[in-house]
Amino acid sequence: MDLKAHIRGIPDFPKPGILFYDISTLLRHGPAWREAMARLADKIRPHKPDLLAGIESRGFLVAAPLALELGLGFIMLRKPRKLPGLTIGLNYALEYGTDRIEMQADAVQKGQRVVLLDDLLATGGTMAAGINLLRQSGAEVPCAAALIELTFLGGRNRLDVPFEALVAYD
Ligand code: IMP
Repeated sequence: MDLKAHIRGIPDFPKPGILFYDISTLLRHGPAWREAMARLADKIRPHKPDLLAGIESRGFLVAAPLALELGLGFIMLRKPRKLPGLTIGLNYALEYGTDRIEMQADAVQKGQRVVLLDDLLATGGTMAAGINLLRQSGAEVPCAAALIELTFLGGRNRLDVPFEALVAYD
């Protein structure tokens, strides 16, 4: 099955000049979505995770069904002030300004292998921040993965772990 046939590029979203890769059409096609999750599970399994983590919000859509497929638990990396209880967080630089992600301080036990997931890797800044936050929590991060990689932005070069993706655009 050609997964790219189920992903569309929407020009000028969210700003003029940006081509936004939209996974809504993949999500709404049951067999294609199931196939995408099965293929991503096959790429992640060899890294032997104990837990999966997803980055808000489309990363949740990827990490939660994969966790079920792999028989694992799933934790959330969220925007600030969304999670209850004690949290830890990390600020990271954007093209203009900064952003922050947080997770629950007790989500990971020291040394657990946590694979981090998002829908798309662009510059890699979000994924790199997620990896660093997971490490702060005591996790080992054996790999990171996404449905889509924008290879022309070189995001995987900013990651110090192996990176897996199902489809690439260059
Ligand atoms: P990065 O930090 O530059 O790698 O940007 C990746 C983050 O931005 C991910 O959380 C994506 O969900 C989001 N993102 C950037 N570009 C796109 C796109 O074309 N489609 C969907 N999400 C995108």
